[in-house]
Amino acid sequence: MSDVPACRFCRAPLTHDLVDLGLQPLSNSYLTEAQFRAGTERAYPLHARVCDRCFLVQADDAVPADAIFDADYAYFSSYSTSWLEHCRAYAEKAVKRFGLGPDSLVVEVASNDGYLLQYFAQAGVPVLGIEPTANTAEAARAKGVPTEVTFFNEATAKALAAKGVRADLMHGANVLAHVPDIGDFVAGFRHVLKPGGVLSFEFPHLLRMIEKVQFDTIYHEHFSYLSLVAVERVLAANGLRAYDVEELWTHGGSLRLYCAHADAPFAETEALNGVRAAERAAGLDRIEGYAGFARRTAEVRDGFLAYLAEARGAGRKIAAYGAAAKGNTFLNYAGVGPEDIVAVFDRNPHKQGKRLPGSHIPILAPEKIAEVRPDDVLILPWNLKDEIMAQLAFVRDWGGRFVTAAPDVEIHP
Ligand SMILES: [Zn+2]
Repeated sequence: MSDVPACRFCRAPLTHDLVDLGLQPLSNSYLTEAQFRAGTERAYPLHARVCDRCFLVQADDAVPADAIFDADYAYFSSYSTSWLEHCRAYAEKAVKRFGLGPDSLVVEVASNDGYLLQYFAQAGVPVLGIEPTANTAEAARAKGVPTEVTFFNEATAKALAAKGVRADLMHGANVLAHVPDIGDFVAGFRHVLKPGGVLSFEFPHLLRMIEKVQFDTIYHEHFSYLSLVAVERVLAANGLRAYDVEELWTHGGSLRLYCAHADAPFAETEALNGVRAAERAAGLDRIEGYAGFARRTAEVRDGFLAYLAEARGAGRKIAAYGAAAKGNTFLNYAGVGPEDIVAVFDRNPHKQGKRLPGSHIPILAPEKIAEVRPDDVLILPWNLKDEIMAQLAFVRDWGGRFVTAAPDVEIHP
C-alpha cells in the first residue's frame, strides 16, 4: 500500500499535509454503557491533506463506509431552533427569487427528516427529498415530504431523470463535504436540473476554518473542506458553474453557492468575485497558503490544556455543553477524559445516557446541569455560543462561567 493517497477529485498524489489529528474514533459513534465496558471501540487515523493541483482539502479515506453510515445514525437536523429558522428563511427567499409555484419542483439531496423541504411544501411547491438513511426518510414522509431512499450520485441521478424527475431548484446543505467521491456526486446534478434551473450548495467555508483555526470541524464523516477555488473546479468538470454566493454565519462561516448549467444565462455577481478575491488574498490558490495550520492547531490545544490545568488546580468543576461531532475531535485531540470534564449536556435524547467516543465523557440531559452545578461550562459547538449562553444563563446564578476554546480560550463570566 502506498503511503501517499490520491486526491479524491483529481487523483493527483497528496504530498502536502494540512494537519494530522492522530487516531480518533468516529465522531458520531456514541457509546452505550455496555459498549463502553466492552472496550471494543475502534480508532482510525484522522489526517487532512491538501491537493497541490486542485486545492481540495480532504481527510484520508481511513474508515469503511458501512462503519460511518450505520443503523444507529442518530443525527436529526431538526433539533436546533436557529438552524430551522435559517432553513425557513431560505425557503421563503428562494420561492420569491426563483418564482417557484405549484408547477415547480424542489429537490433536496440529503434531505434528512424533511427539515427544509417542509417549508417549500407548506408554500405549495412540490418537493422531493433524496436521503440515504431509511429512518430519517420515514420521519420526512410523516411530515408530508416525499422522499427517495438512495445515495445520490451520477447513476442514481440518471435513474431519477429516467423517471421524469426534473428540478427547478436543487439544494444540498452540508452534504458536499460528506460524500467520499465529490466528482461522482456533483456529476448527478446536471441530469436532474432543468436547463434554466438553479442549484444551491451550502458548505462550511475553508477560508473561515483556516482563519479561525477551526480544526474541530475535521472529522471522519467530513471528507472534504471546501474553498470556492476547489468547488469551481469540480463544477467545471461536470458542465456546471457558480454565478452567485452568499456568506452565512452557519457552522462558523459558510458559503451558499448558486450554480447553474455552464451554458445557462446567469451573470456572475460581484459577491462571487469578492469571495474569489478573498480566497486569493488568503493564498488558497497556492500551496503555501496552507502552511502553518498544523502549528496553529497545536497552539489552540496547548492553550486549552493550560486553561484546564489552571481551572482544575483552582478546584473548579468543569462540564461541557453540546455532544456534537466537532466537540469530539477537539476533546480527543486534546486527550481529555471524564477526570477533566465531568459530563457533557446535550438536548438530543438519542445521545443522553451514552458516552462520547474517545473521551468517554458521560452525556446527560440539560435538566441535570443544576444538579451537577459546574463552575465552568465549556461550549463545544462554539458557532452556537450565543444561543447556548442565553439558554443556560441560570448557570451564572451559582457563579458559573462559560468557556470557548478556539481560536483562543475565552472565558465569558
Ligand atoms: Zn486534486
